[in-house]
Amino acid sequence: MAERYKLYEIDYDAGRIKLKNKVCPKCGRVMAFHKSPVPRWHCGYCGYVEYVREGK
Ligand SMILES: [Zn+2]
Repeated sequence: MAERYKLYEIDYDAGRIKLKNKVCPKCGRVMAFHKSPVPRWHCGYCGYVEYVREGK
């Protein structure tokens, strides 16, 4: 059985860890990423939305 809380994807070739999914700060469930119209993380359980800021 696959790990339920595998939130990171390790890229061994590049030697870094990519964030695969984000956990909702309100209900603790895995959020879904949407790219349009604006990049954001959305929680389908409680409706929490976190907008992604680019150009950091
Ligand atoms: Zn939530």
